[in-house]
Amino acid sequence: MLEPTRQRLPAREADLGDGMRVRRALPTRLRRMVGPWCFLDHFGPVDVSRTSGMRVPPHPHLGLQTVTWLFEGEVVHRDSLGSHQRIVPGQLNVMTSGRGIAHSETSPAPHPPALHGLQLWIALPDEARHAPAAFDHHPALPSLDHRGLRLTVMVGEALGQRSPARLYSPAVGIDLRAEGPVAAQLPVDPAFEHAALVTAGTAWIDGEPLQPGALLYLGGGRDALEVRTEGPARLTLLGGAPFQTPIQMWWNFVARTREELSAAVRTWNDGGGSFGEVQGDPGERLRSPVPPWSTVT
Ligand code: MN
Repeated sequence: MLEPTRQRLPAREADLGDGMRVRRALPTRLRRMVGPWCFLDHFGPVDVSRTSGMRVPPHPHLGLQTVTWLFEGEVVHRDSLGSHQRIVPGQLNVMTSGRGIAHSETSPAPHPPALHGLQLWIALPDEARHAPAAFDHHPALPSLDHRGLRLTVMVGEALGQRSPARLYSPAVGIDLRAEGPVAAQLPVDPAFEHAALVTAGTAWIDGEPLQPGALLYLGGGRDALEVRTEGPARLTLLGGAPFQTPIQMWWNFVARTREELSAAVRTWNDGGGSFGEVQGDPGERLRSPVPPWSTVT
């Protein structure tokens, strides 16, 4: 039975190289998942006017969906299905890895001076994790105004608006923006657990002040969530039914056993195999670190 709670989870600072620092809010030691959401990086805002910007070379994924959401900037996605897609703020990229895909994400040249956004993963349930890979770009998403908040429904449904993004287990992801002081009750699904991440400014969630750098886990069993601001602020609300199957993660892979993870590492490091090759990216592909439990190097 889900109960409402308030648990503040500090994000970890991680360095993706090239000075691209991110705040990793999931997974953390205290919490691995929120519903099916199993990874959350908040990157920027960072000045990329004198740098090449985002450079995430070709790398594989397994057992998950990646969700890319920008507040500022521009990113180009390429993958082993042949997709080549530019994304700007307000749009959504959802890549469903299924049994395997490889992709890269880079800033175009030239690019806007700032880069700020979220990179999220959704774990796939057993019935979807061996399916063929897919990539979807959503140029527009449903949005609405609710008591002073501008809501954009990235995935799932909120206030009667449903995102077109494909989803394999019950979940929601909403971007909320306040231009000034707001005091709003936001209806939420009591069967979902939720967590909030502030990406700009300060917001009080269920009375708890929150700024960039921490995830606020809220538990479940709520019909509504109180959101207050005293000025401009932006936040992301994630939720979902608690994920039913324990997952194992290593690097960019989500699976159920260490054997599966070791096999994925081997396949990718041995040349890519079923993950395929990212088309049109001259960057050198990333190599997977070998897990400590693996007997094969
Ligand atoms: Mn990726």
